[in-house]
Amino acid sequence: MSDHCHACILCGLPVDEDLSDYIPNWRAEAWMLSDRLIFFVQGHWDVAYMSDPREMLSPIGIDVPDFSKPIWVQTGPDCRNFGMEWWNYEETLCGFGIEIHCACWEVLNSFRPNEQLDFTTLMRACLSFPVDNSKIQFGLDYQGRINYRMHSDVPGDEFNSLTFSERIGLRHEPDPSHLEFLYDLDQYFGYPHWRHHSDDALNEYAPISKVLPKAKTKDIFNSLPSELLSEVMNLLSCKDVGNLRKASRAAAVVGLSESFWKSRFLAGGEFEYLYEAHYLLDVPAEQNKWKDLYMWVARFRHSDAVRQRRRFWELSSQFYRLIDMVTESPCHGTAASGVFDISGYEDELVWHTASSFYGSSEALFERFLTLPETVDSIYVSTIRWQGRELITGLRFISGDASYEIGYVRQNSEKPVHIPEADQTGESAPIKGFHLTQTSWGIRGIAVMTDSGVTEWVGDQYEHLPRRKLTFPPRDDNDMTFPPRDDNDQDDIVKHIKCGFDGIKMVSLSVSDGSKPTAPDPDSASTRRKDRAPLKNIRDEGLWFPPLPPDHLNFAMGTQFVGKTISNSPATWSAFGGLNGENLEDITGLRVWVHDNYGHHVICRLAVETSHGSAWDIGDELPESGEYYFAIDGQKGERITGLSTYYAPVEQADERDGKSFLGFSVHTNFKRSQMFPNEIANTTGSFRQMIPDHGGLVVGFCAAWVDGEHCDSRFTEIGIVYIPEHPDGYWL
Ligand SMILES: [Zn+2]
Repeated sequence: MSDHCHACILCGLPVDEDLSDYIPNWRAEAWMLSDRLIFFVQGHWDVAYMSDPREMLSPIGIDVPDFSKPIWVQTGPDCRNFGMEWWNYEETLCGFGIEIHCACWEVLNSFRPNEQLDFTTLMRACLSFPVDNSKIQFGLDYQGRINYRMHSDVPGDEFNSLTFSERIGLRHEPDPSHLEFLYDLDQYFGYPHWRHHSDDALNEYAPISKVLPKAKTKDIFNSLPSELLSEVMNLLSCKDVGNLRKASRAAAVVGLSESFWKSRFLAGGEFEYLYEAHYLLDVPAEQNKWKDLYMWVARFRHSDAVRQRRRFWELSSQFYRLIDMVTESPCHGTAASGVFDISGYEDELVWHTASSFYGSSEALFERFLTLPETVDSIYVSTIRWQGRELITGLRFISGDASYEIGYVRQNSEKPVHIPEADQTGESAPIKGFHLTQTSWGIRGIAVMTDSGVTEWVGDQYEHLPRRKLTFPPRDDNDMTFPPRDDNDQDDIVKHIKCGFDGIKMVSLSVSDGSKPTAPDPDSASTRRKDRAPLKNIRDEGLWFPPLPPDHLNFAMGTQFVGKTISNSPATWSAFGGLNGENLEDITGLRVWVHDNYGHHVICRLAVETSHGSAWDIGDELPESGEYYFAIDGQKGERITGLSTYYAPVEQADERDGKSFLGFSVHTNFKRSQMFPNEIANTTGSFRQMIPDHGGLVVGFCAAWVDGEHCDSRFTEIGIVYIPEHPDGYWL
């Protein structure tokens, strides 16, 4: 069961009133029923606004002084389709907003009381994270209040599904902005009977100097003036003060002043989160009651209300870390065409792009940089957040000059040294990059030169999808990347273009300076797509796992190339062995087909061998049908290729643009099997993937979407083959 209910950006708890369909026993606390919207007005991305407190589900036409019409604000982080035409009523302007509880807004603002929170910065921080189920994926689980479901068996590590935990229906969530006991002070200040109550917090400060034996060693604190010793104690935690007083007679005899007790409520003090203390005691008559206040609140330190306040205080602290990340550095480089670049530079170059993921944070800013002729080293700026290392900017060094792009943080840079080219003694030209990439953005980077690939900077552990970003061989069939100018065949990265959100790099493009040429009408591209030679997409895909070796060729249906492949990871397996050595073990293919409201989709595929399953991906969904196709590997039966089938354009639209229907597998024993059977009747197109002469199929590659409501399915399947192999099948 999925829930698309919105969550507050600070606390992750619901801002929707009615969650009862999703969460048993859900009943919103009173404080959750009032929130504020932080929003942009369409086309005016340079400044964000905040609404007055509003009750849930009240109309959201908001008057903003800068505009003559009310702003109709759509809410929820997945409304942020900047390029999309929004609803447009004549009487209104459109906006897009995210929600924060009024109570959370109060706690957040109290965290740094002297700092006016800038709404634009705050929006940029929130727009720098992937969105799932209408919730921003900050990577926090709010102590189990939000569940992250890792999609099993799916390529890529971070296709999480965020839902509210069912347990939030069982939990009382005290109002983080209101601590009742702080308002009982008057009653107690005049009647100190409670101070004699036996309580650890009180005993800690008993006059222990009387029982302390005379120190045998010299007490170095004796040499400090008592004022200075008091100042030192103001900076220590209560536990440290207690220890110091036990260890040092000098410290023990120095009285604990009102300023000591007040320091407990200042930043870094144990009760810093009780921000009300300052205005409660900010009247002359109450100035000397810090000790009283301390003793009073210490009694409540383990209460649910205080625990809740501490939790929200910690969340505010995390949130300010994000805000600081946004404001730490400007975004270097020439502005191109990001969402927030009002009038950017437009180039006419052919780009090869590692684009941002679907559902990930978008390129709010796009930056362009022409690289110097030689690059000696690259400094990569990174930040760490929730266990991830995220790349934020690059600095290219050439001699004494430095060329910057993105958020450059010189205090957290890591160098990549470009090796020297053979003979010349100069740095080798950059031929491209290896990248790890997830919906959070670009996570790791290494540089390709003729001498190989440099060391990595950033995250590059084995379960991250990775890709090459370089100049693929010329391909007359590929209209996405037209043939390059003959004078420009050196395949050197001369320009780069990067997309950034408010914090980090989300996309990277390279150009060797070539410009698109008009397609030749007689060229192969006008041939029928299903007859065109196979295009090797090995070097263009984002693969999981790992990067394919160079001796293998990859082919997938044309629907996939240049589109889906760059937006989400595809997976592959050479189940027949990297050199075909295990092909004789293959015993069959097992395919699971799920009936998704009348559309049959392939949801799981397994390749079986004499010693078990060699490759098994996808999910077996409820009520899926199972199909089996035996392959006699022992007797020499080999898979020779696949045919893939696509819905006609109009049907694909009906299926939300999902066009892949299924496939047939072919073997050298002249046998074929179609999965699922119904596609025999399709009127759409098909694509044959059978290698040219001598190609040996050793595995499959596949793309996958993990949808909601049992909508998980394959979106493409293709072959992995060794070209011109002695055992290859000759057509
Ligand atoms: Zn909240």
